[in-house]
Amino acid sequence: MNSDSAWKLIYNKFSPDEEGLREALCTLGNGYMGTRGAAAESFASDVHYPGTYISGLYNTLGTKIAGRTIYNEDMVNIPNWTYLSFRIGDGPWFLPSAANIIAYSQELDMKSGILSRKMRFETRKGYRTQIITQRIVHMKYPHLAAIKYVIVPENYSDHITVRTMLDGSVQNTNVERYRQLRSDHWESQELGVFAKNGIYLKMRTSRSKVELAQASKIRIFVANERRKLPIETITKTNRIAQEFCVHMQKGKRLCVEKIVSIYTSNDINVGNIKDEAVNSVKQASRFVSLLNSHRKKWEETWKKIDIRIDGDAFSQKVIRLHLFHLFQTASVHNMKIDAGLPARGLHGESYRGHIFWDALFVYPVFYLRIPQIAKALLRYRYRRLPQAKKYAAENGYKGAMFPWQSGSSGREETQIMHLNPRSGKWGPDFSRLQRHVSFAIAHSFWQYYHFTGDMDFMSKYGAEVLVSIAQFAASLVYFDKRDGRYHTKKVMGPDEFHEKLPGSSKPGLNDNAYTNVLIVWILEKAEAMFHLLSSRYKERLIEKVGLDIKEFERWDDIKKKIKIGFNKQKIIAQFEGYFKLKELDWDKYRKKYKNIQRMDRILKAEGRAPDDYKVAKQADVLMLFYVLRLDQIKEIFRNLGYGFDKKLLRRNYEYYIKRTSHGSTLSKVVHCYVSQLLGKEKEFLNWFEEVLKSDIYDTQGGTTPEGIHCGVMGGSIDIVQRGLAGLDFLDDGTIKIEPRLPRKWRRLKFRLHYRRTSVLFDIMPHSVKVSIPKHEDKGIKLMLEAKKKRYRLSAGKTVSFKP
Ligand code: BGC
Repeated sequence: MNSDSAWKLIYNKFSPDEEGLREALCTLGNGYMGTRGAAAESFASDVHYPGTYISGLYNTLGTKIAGRTIYNEDMVNIPNWTYLSFRIGDGPWFLPSAANIIAYSQELDMKSGILSRKMRFETRKGYRTQIITQRIVHMKYPHLAAIKYVIVPENYSDHITVRTMLDGSVQNTNVERYRQLRSDHWESQELGVFAKNGIYLKMRTSRSKVELAQASKIRIFVANERRKLPIETITKTNRIAQEFCVHMQKGKRLCVEKIVSIYTSNDINVGNIKDEAVNSVKQASRFVSLLNSHRKKWEETWKKIDIRIDGDAFSQKVIRLHLFHLFQTASVHNMKIDAGLPARGLHGESYRGHIFWDALFVYPVFYLRIPQIAKALLRYRYRRLPQAKKYAAENGYKGAMFPWQSGSSGREETQIMHLNPRSGKWGPDFSRLQRHVSFAIAHSFWQYYHFTGDMDFMSKYGAEVLVSIAQFAASLVYFDKRDGRYHTKKVMGPDEFHEKLPGSSKPGLNDNAYTNVLIVWILEKAEAMFHLLSSRYKERLIEKVGLDIKEFERWDDIKKKIKIGFNKQKIIAQFEGYFKLKELDWDKYRKKYKNIQRMDRILKAEGRAPDDYKVAKQADVLMLFYVLRLDQIKEIFRNLGYGFDKKLLRRNYEYYIKRTSHGSTLSKVVHCYVSQLLGKEKEFLNWFEEVLKSDIYDTQGGTTPEGIHCGVMGGSIDIVQRGLAGLDFLDDGTIKIEPRLPRKWRRLKFRLHYRRTSVLFDIMPHSVKVSIPKHEDKGIKLMLEAKKKRYRLSAGKTVSFKP
């Protein structure tokens, strides 16, 4: 990859081995749908994987594995709308991976959301052809996508036959380790033509019965003149294609514009989805005008979301790449969609498009730029509150317990069996015991309120979620008279390597510190939110969730007495019994396996149990310091009677970092942030680079082709905001600022939307400016940490200072 521009990903060679990664990184999307950047001419193969996903579109299939039927819900790969290829004379259909390519360049323009490709290839006969393509998934009109495909016969004249297709024969086969499972989600309903140049296809998912309609129309131009050539339609059970043939003169351009529209029965306020798809394609204007409106929408979006970094081209490019993909995964169109944020975006099929706790890392990007997006995603959770209440009750808890993996219905979607690709064996999967996912959701609702001040949303929805989760949290703990403390049992922390105590047959662990501390935080915030409600909403809430004010007394008691374990050196115990586990010979494993990120799989394949060792997949204890502010943790610990000495964080960081394999990219984000809290400049820079490289270089070795990692992308922006700009959003609404730019950064500039006010930050090594545009009607409170100065910044004013 060369780095000629901060807005572009450019590839100058066709590289079959890298194609999967590029497809994920070059995905185009608009929140409603996402289309991988696969070659238009390709079908699913070892090299290519054309995939398109629609937010919230899932289907469940059952497969027999190890003698039992297991059910998996997948975000469904929808019929491939992108297919377009051609052949010269009666030669083969053009496919980049099978052609003799003599020049190639592919470019993702993030500023405008355009994927383009230019290439030349030569046939055995010596025919040289140039191909220029452009693709968009429209940012303004979420149901529309389009391709412009230009073919130029450079040194010959011959017949060229073009074929375009809507291909419903696709399956979910992006992830190799899921291929033993069924993946045929679609049933064909209707295929047909409209006008002289249009085709459509209607299909339905087999179990969820979601209907989908796709319509496509082509326009043909030869030497820039519109040509109405006869078009033949070819239909098969689940595909419909169009073909036309034209005799091309040497050096002349053949241009095909393909405009596609997609609707599903999940869409709100849409009647007949087939008519809707056909009509919107009929009415769609030329490619160029769609391109212009799309570009304009991206321009407007970038004004709200961009982060400018001078002096570090790599960071600049990757930070934009992360913003680009996050705002393609969820956009303002989500306000009309009932969907959460899939951990792997709309970019691939890993984790089956499920929604985990990862959004926790991404919300700060949305809250502070386009908060409506965060609100739309939170509403996905709110709508599934009844399911979460049911799930809690089924497990003997009160309140609302959200599933570890969530799909369309809000049921638990975590699989029961998991395949270890290293050993080829299926084993039980207990990861659903990560009850902390509910606390991440509560945290996100609270943060939304904190960053936006949107009390209306909290009164109607947010407070109910917070209090229901707090009720669950309180029911998760029990009091033990023997030590006078509250405890939790049968849970897992974020570190998924530890599922149970060594030798135990019962899954789950006791007193996971991360879980226990968050319980205190949640009880506190839920009660605070309750008191913020007007009496009308208080009464409504009491009735809805069956809240007894006396519950608060027990909550208060838990806040003073929940157990956090420590060893003699004052290291926080990740869970009860942690310190009795064996130490791992890390050097030996590093030497033997090189990449030891997935130590769990290595140990299991060796016939050992990760449960027996002090080896964590990712930050668990340290995760606390990412989610909560230091002063909040201090207060919690002190109220619990544990005290909090100055070196506690440093000690715990140094202890756990040696025992963590970073099998999740999220771990890098947390270690990056914490190393900066500790002022470990060099370590921080290394971590930051690791964080940035995660997806663009697929540092996990093969996971990014199966979808981007939204968590690490969001985390990288959060680190820029909280870590490098040094912003802290205090409880009273004050923004505290203490910039810490890396030495080579000459400037960091961005705009945030905080509590309904636009605030501009322009940070340079020797000067910092914070300003509020004139048109705003509110100001903010600002605190300069280094100088201990406080300001009230009003509209049209700027504060400048030396950092
Ligand atoms: C991580 C989880 C994460 C999930 C989805 C797993 O590898 O351990 O923390 O939620 O991936 O991204």
